[in-house]
Amino acid sequence: MAVAEIVTIGTELLLGEIQDTNSKYIARVLRDIGVDLYRLTTVGDNIQRITATLQEALMRADIVITTGGLGPTVDDPTRQAVANVFNLPLVYHEELWEQILERFTRNNRKPTENNRRQAYVPQNSRIITNEVGTAPAFAFEWGTKTIISLPGVPREMEHLIQTFVLDYLKKRYALQDEIIKAHVVHTVSLGESSIDELIGELETLSNPTVGLLAHPGQTDVRITAKAHSEVEAVRMIEPVLAEIYEKLGPYIYGENETTIDQSVVDLLKRRDLKLTVVECGTHGEISARLTASAPDRINGENVEIPLSEDTLKSMMSEFQTQKKTDLTLGVRLTKNHEKQDLLVILYYAGQWHEDERSYGGPPGDGQLWAFNSALGYVRSLLINNEKKES
Ligand code: ATP
Ligand code: MG
Repeated sequence: MAVAEIVTIGTELLLGEIQDTNSKYIARVLRDIGVDLYRLTTVGDNIQRITATLQEALMRADIVITTGGLGPTVDDPTRQAVANVFNLPLVYHEELWEQILERFTRNNRKPTENNRRQAYVPQNSRIITNEVGTAPAFAFEWGTKTIISLPGVPREMEHLIQTFVLDYLKKRYALQDEIIKAHVVHTVSLGESSIDELIGELETLSNPTVGLLAHPGQTDVRITAKAHSEVEAVRMIEPVLAEIYEKLGPYIYGENETTIDQSVVDLLKRRDLKLTVVECGTHGEISARLTASAPDRINGENVEIPLSEDTLKSMMSEFQTQKKTDLTLGVRLTKNHEKQDLLVILYYAGQWHEDERSYGGPPGDGQLWAFNSALGYVRSLLINNEKKES
């Protein structure tokens, strides 16, 4: 696997005057052709420091891509720095000078003697014709390693990447087109750190990689594989997925596009159950979202004033008889200084089940946290019940 580093050159980057968008662009295209990027460096317009930076980068990486510092002025030092790295002179190319003159004439401008500097490139480098600007770019091959120096102007840099660099690197490093496939497993009712403890070992894999993404009240496990084909990626993901199921099985409610409300509705359908929701402090969101996927199975009652636990329970009992449902879910979310407290009550098969928990995350996420937590609770109770019966 070819390894690359990017070196962006320009004092204005270090002064915070412009943002380094070149690195971001190059990082993406390298990722897409399967080149591993290990480091980004920014260095000012100083020949000694650029030379040293390039020497170090070349010791570590196969490919070093620079942007900037190719202009016609004395403080455009990239050409000289690359020449210094290999102890080679800069060599004048008449055809480059002609190209520069031609561009100037076309734009009705007059080149200065300074522009002649741009016709010099390190000896033995390969010239990359720049049709969209005056600064000629070049590639220098050193054994299996390569330095590619591109202009700083984003539009010119991007053009040269697309018209030359990508194909050049694919050929030189025999890169095969790779695809990146991600598979997401959704879990609920188990915190990020507990998941981390259970599958921590998988998180050290390099391909596929396994990473956690915590949402309020719910955590995703993301498996990402890099491969030459979809089939190969799926084959690489399978054993990792199996291991995740083995370790987190009871907490997994779905994969990829599946949502927690869908998974609860699926459980209700499978057992032909009807659910009534009495919620308070959650703005009717729980029943609204469940009803959207199964209008015939869900009844909802939203109360805007805070209810005591007893009142909530008696309302639940009332609805239980009135609506003839199999399960009744009561949810109460209350704000309590910095945190939010959630009470979840479920009446099912003649029994009351209760759970209390609090949330100290961003207040705006409290609603989503309550939604995920309450449905996670319903889901685990339904599943435990299924297990007992079988
Ligand atoms: P020129 O011939 O235009 O001088 P150059 O190769 O010398 O090209 P620089 O002078 O370093 O390039 O940069 C030219 C302009 O390109 C900068 O003023 C800046 O606007 C933009 N630029 C340079 N480097 C970056 C970067 N890393 N990310 C985004 N923009 C950049
Ligand atoms: Mg410049």
